[in-house]
Amino acid sequence: MVNDNADKLVRDNFWELPLEQLTRTEWEQLCDGCARCCLKKLQDDNTPADATKQTAPAIRFTRVVCRYLNQSRCSCKAYQDRQIKVPDCLVLDMENLPQSLYWIPDTCAYKLRYLGKPLPQWHPLLTGSRSAMEELGIPVTGRVLSEQYVHDDGLEEHVIRWVKA
Ligand code: SF4
Repeated sequence: MVNDNADKLVRDNFWELPLEQLTRTEWEQLCDGCARCCLKKLQDDNTPADATKQTAPAIRFTRVVCRYLNQSRCSCKAYQDRQIKVPDCLVLDMENLPQSLYWIPDTCAYKLRYLGKPLPQWHPLLTGSRSAMEELGIPVTGRVLSEQYVHDDGLEEHVIRWVKA
């Protein structure tokens, strides 16, 4: 759970701490701003019929992205109202993270830290800028298409391989 009592606190190397010890500010700063989580996803319909609740469906990412994403900045244009405008937009926290891991991109800092892994070396918290992650094509900028221009029935045509869960 995010520590609301120390809302402004940002400690040295806080990204090495367990997620549940982070203050709200530290939690927010952990995000690398890649916007990969804003991509539309397809859930595999071939999940076995006897799948239990523990069997997560396979996810394929598409290059189609939320209409509210500022694609050049990888920022949300409706951040404050995003859950009103996009009801299924998840505000990630320690409670919903575990059951969301199956669709969260494998580069996501929250997923990595939840799994006890270090941040990738290109993460802006380690490098001090977005240059390294941009060189590696981690942000979605320049590679995506707004959902405004794609019908849901056409998502299959836009499946990508450069993002995986
Ligand atoms: S995938 Fe993770 S690190 Fe990237 S923008 Fe989404 S929450 Fe932040």
